[in-house]
Amino acid sequence: MSFEALGLHTSIVKAVSVAGYEKPTPVQEQAVPAGIAGRDLLVSSQTGSGKTAAFMLPALHKFASEEPAPAGRTPAQEAQAAKARGERVRFKAAQPKMLVLTPTRELALQVTQATEQYTAFMRRIRAVSILGGMPYPKQMQLLAKNPEILVATPGRLIDHMESGKIDFSQLEILVLDEADRMLDMGFIDDIEKIVAATPDTRQTMLFSATLDGVVGNMARRITKDPQVIQIMSATNRHENITQKVHFVDDLSHKNRLLDHLLRDETMDQAVVFTATKRDADMIADRLNIAGFAAAALHGDMHQGARNRTLDGMRRGQVRVLVATDVAARGIDVPTITHVVNYDLPKFPEDYVHRIGRTGRAGRNGTAVSLVNHAEGMNVKRIERFTKQTIPVDVVIGFEPKRSAPARTSARTGAGWKPGDGRNAGKPGQRSFSKPNATGSREGGGFRSEGQRPAREGGYRGSNPRSADGARRAFGDR
Ligand code: AMP
Repeated sequence: MSFEALGLHTSIVKAVSVAGYEKPTPVQEQAVPAGIAGRDLLVSSQTGSGKTAAFMLPALHKFASEEPAPAGRTPAQEAQAAKARGERVRFKAAQPKMLVLTPTRELALQVTQATEQYTAFMRRIRAVSILGGMPYPKQMQLLAKNPEILVATPGRLIDHMESGKIDFSQLEILVLDEADRMLDMGFIDDIEKIVAATPDTRQTMLFSATLDGVVGNMARRITKDPQVIQIMSATNRHENITQKVHFVDDLSHKNRLLDHLLRDETMDQAVVFTATKRDADMIADRLNIAGFAAAALHGDMHQGARNRTLDGMRRGQVRVLVATDVAARGIDVPTITHVVNYDLPKFPEDYVHRIGRTGRAGRNGTAVSLVNHAEGMNVKRIERFTKQTIPVDVVIGFEPKRSAPARTSARTGAGWKPGDGRNAGKPGQRSFSKPNATGSREGGGFRSEGQRPAREGGYRGSNPRSADGARRAFGDR
């Protein structure tokens, strides 16, 4: 299947070819024709699957096929003319044709950049990002150009809507990107408000890692007779990513093992995930002192600093990025070879997003979790969510003093018990990895004996918004 065969406008086919795309990804193969046909879409596919083009290309095809609008003045030009006539200048609300809602600023910027690539050979189509953290005057200037496409985080968008800067009466296409994530971050009310301000005639495309539960209910409420597309590609199953767990005894053991792993000669660039912003800073400092080109990335940093850090990563100046979950979402740097979970994520979904930072654009990657013995249950929950077993690995010279837990199948095991020694690493034992080797030992899930099965969803905590207080503040406004 080629991009021409999807029925896309020639200017778009040319742009994706210049972007180096040889053929559509599975999600694009299904979503583009349905999108062109004007269908509402509910798509379950993950970051890295080519989902941005899956919603953007059919939208751009629609705009490319429309008659060009009569050449009128943009709101900015009208304001200038009014000023010249000595009249009081009144801000005219922007009237976008397409709105893409994303959970984070990074993802919004990425979508905007991708759109600029895809529109390189089209008549002028403007895409702008409306994000929390960006100065308001700068955003007013962008809105005054009356862009056709707005890519926005929900909170800041609401601010502009409430102050009359945006009018959605002409909106044709609404996209919710990573909808599950937006709901996790507590944006449901904002999303409902935004959707209610758009015309019923709109085409709605919703992308989410899952279409179950709350997100599924919302999805069905805001779409009409949607085409449901579920993509389970090798990338979605992360078959190109070698996953492993290393058990550690304490912080000192964890830090020594981290340093060792980062010196692995197969490691080109790594993202190390921490639970808190403070830890991200502290570990980045410690790694710098140890001689690694490391930088922190988290929500307390200004947008400019975050962009500079990511540019440094893209240019290869930063080898180790120490990041929190929200800050790292949407990072698309294909040269990242390793992801290290210094701390396990709070939500199993985050594990999937984290490891998806490596193994991008058709490459292979390695994802290592450094796990305290007390966290075995959390590994189990991740395994249940991903329906995959994560093998336990031991590096010679870095063996945990305590045995690893005994395990059973990921699907059936409901918990774990302290190990019986079968999986434990013992110095010199031949079946364990040598330092820097990638081999791993297969295990099953964790076995529970006399322990209550893990409650599905119990991992999430009762209040997702406050479970990670940084999220709301970081992702928006
Ligand atoms: P996304 O899932 O939209 O974040 O895309 C992940 C990465 O895949 C981005 O770097 C895209 O530029 C790239 N990509 C998207 N579609 C294709 C394609 N058809 N062929 C090759 N790369 C692609």
